[in-house]
Amino acid sequence: MANKKGDRYECDECGLVILVENPCTCESCEIVCCGEPMNSISEKTENQNKQ
Ligand SMILES: [Zn+2]
Repeated sequence: MANKKGDRYECDECGLVILVENPCTCESCEIVCCGEPMNSISEKTENQNKQ
């Protein structure tokens, strides 16, 4: 799962959120925080959380 610019990732453990400024070309890219791969935050999920 490659990331792309604007993607955001959240850590379930500590709540860290990061924003991808420059995408990578990795076939499988895992951004790890607290020893766990971070979860990508989709815009759909964000919209559901707004209200
Ligand atoms: Zn963390």
